[in-house]
Formats: sequence, C-alpha cells, structure tokens
Amino acid sequence: MHIKDHTFGLFIPEKEIQEAVARLADRLNHDFRHLNPLFIGVLNGAFMFAADLLRNIHIPSELTFIKVKSYTGTQSTGTVNTLLGLDHPIQDRHLIIVEDIIDTGLTVQHLQEKLKQEKPASIHIATLLLKPEALLTPLSLTYVGFEIPNEFVVGYGLDYDGQGRNLRDIYKVSE
Ligand code: 5GP
Repeated sequence: MHIKDHTFGLFIPEKEIQEAVARLADRLNHDFRHLNPLFIGVLNGAFMFAADLLRNIHIPSELTFIKVKSYTGTQSTGTVNTLLGLDHPIQDRHLIIVEDIIDTGLTVQHLQEKLKQEKPASIHIATLLLKPEALLTPLSLTYVGFEIPNEFVVGYGLDYDGQGRNLRDIYKVSE
C-alpha cells in the first residue's frame, strides 16, 4: 500500500484491533463501574479508537475530545502545543485519557500535567498502541492494546501527512 512517498505493509488486521479494543473495554467496565468516568479522546488520531472503545463501554460514563499536536510527517517534533477544547469541568472526576498511540510519551505527559491542575479524582491512560523503545518519560500505563516496535504506523485513525486515517487495519512503514 502506498501513501505519498512511502510504502506500508499490513501490520495489525481489523479483527485483532477489535479484539484488543473489546478486552480493554471489559477491563474499564469492571475497574470504573462505580466511578462514572470521563473519557477524554485525543484528536485527531484517537477518534476511531474512542468510537470503538465507547461502543464497548456499558457503564455510566461521558466522552469529550481535546486536541494536541506534536507530529509533522513521520518524526516526533518533541514539542507539544497546549490543549484545545476541554469544555468539561473535570474537578473530582475520574479521567481516562484515550490515545491512539504513545511514542515518546511527551504528549500524554504534558496532557496529564495540564489536567492535574484542575484537581481530578484520578487520571488513567488507555492507549491502543505503545512504542516502549521510544518512551522518553516514565508513565504509568494500565490500559495498553498493543506494544509495537519503534516504527511508523498508519491506519485506524493514525495518519501519514493527513492520509490513511480511514483505514480499518493498521499498516507499518516498510522501507
Ligand atoms: P508522543 O508525544 O508520544 O511522541 O507522540 C504521540 C503522538 O504522535 C500520537 O498521538 C500520534 O499523533 C503521533 N504518533 C506517534 N507515533 C506515530 C506513528 O507511528 N504513526 C502516526 N501516524 N502517528 C504517530
């Protein structure tokens, strides 16, 4: 599969993604059953994961989205812009940050610090993908779908220069 100047090969098929999403949702349904959690999806990449995850959540809960950006092309810029669009009061709420992928971890760490200032009851992270070798900061990660090698992936919400978010499977760059 080609997107712009890169070739990508199938990496995680739709069925495996959906199974992992359902497993994560089961654990969240159990762990947050009395806590009315607020899911915070991180746009744009997490839109598809958040939609599928929430379809498998059966406990009282809410969902909102925020936006941050730290990537251009296939390299992390290491800089994270401020968050946009948090319109929900989060004081004393149990927050679950919904991320498509954690690479350096800087985005989610920055997000956690910002959210902590509003004194939530707790903050947890649910990420579909994690690149353990790329992590630059220690993070407490309880809900991880897949640990993957330090390579660039697209599909299932993740883009390469704006393309590929619509793909149902996840692809890995192959050259
Ligand atoms: P971090 O701050 O953890 O380095 O990067 C997190 C963000 O970088 C993710 O939310 C995602 O938007 C982007 N990102 C990191 N790795 C990849 C990747 O392999 N593919 C794509 N498409 N985006 C990535």
